Amino acid sequence: MSPLIRSCKAGQVNIGIMGGTFDPIHIGHLVSAEGARQRFALDYVVFVPAGLPPHKEMSKVSAPEHRYLMTTLAVMSNPAFFVSRLEVDRDEPSYTIDTVRHFSRQEAAGANLYFITGVDAIIDILTWKDYAELLELCDFIAVTRLGYSLKRLEEAQKKMPGIMNKVHLLEIPALAISSTYIRERVATGKTIKYLTPEPVEQYIEKQRLYTAG
Ligand code: ATP
Ligand code: MG
Repeated sequence: MSPLIRSCKAGQVNIGIMGGTFDPIHIGHLVSAEGARQRFALDYVVFVPAGLPPHKEMSKVSAPEHRYLMTTLAVMSNPAFFVSRLEVDRDEPSYTIDTVRHFSRQEAAGANLYFITGVDAIIDILTWKDYAELLELCDFIAVTRLGYSLKRLEEAQKKMPGIMNKVHLLEIPALAISSTYIRERVATGKTIKYLTPEPVEQYIEKQRLYTAG
């Protein structure tokens, strides 16, 4: 984490927080974060790899340290991108609210916070832990693909009028890439060139991640 984030003053800094499993991080994540940075004048984007993801079976997810290191390698060339160890160093599952509370009270107190996520995740926001507080503490940037159906988001809007004041949609060029797709390609011996930055590709090869057995 940059010491600059720690020393930010009230109202002067816009910070994006991008949570994810990042197993592995790929260009879909990076293009989204960079798009959000430009569109919402973010000074920084902090990637927060999940420690023990509450919604994924832990045994199937690579070790937090691998995911943290790959994320660090992926953001190396962008001076506005940082990686946080917050969740990987926690022993218990983290919810978005825990992470956002941490940034809003401590590491980024006084900054404007934007949580960046795929629109498919935001659709379920009303089921998230302490969602009302979450919507008070930060804005959401929901990354969407052209033509993506927003019907379910409209349903959420009916249940909670005003939600769209805090949720901003950001269309990025269609990127169908997912970590699942990359893991499957590695497992079947296919190239992942250009789907993730080269250092991440090399790390996956060196550590023999995602190969069967
Ligand atoms: P998996 O296939 O294992 O579910 P993933 O590619 O969805 O992995 P995550 O780490 O689960 O990656 O996602 C982190 C965040 O990035 C989520 O908010 C997700 O919606 C978003 N995201 C994932 N892939 C893309 C993409 N290609 N374009 C834009 N956003 C994405
Ligand atoms: Mg996913």
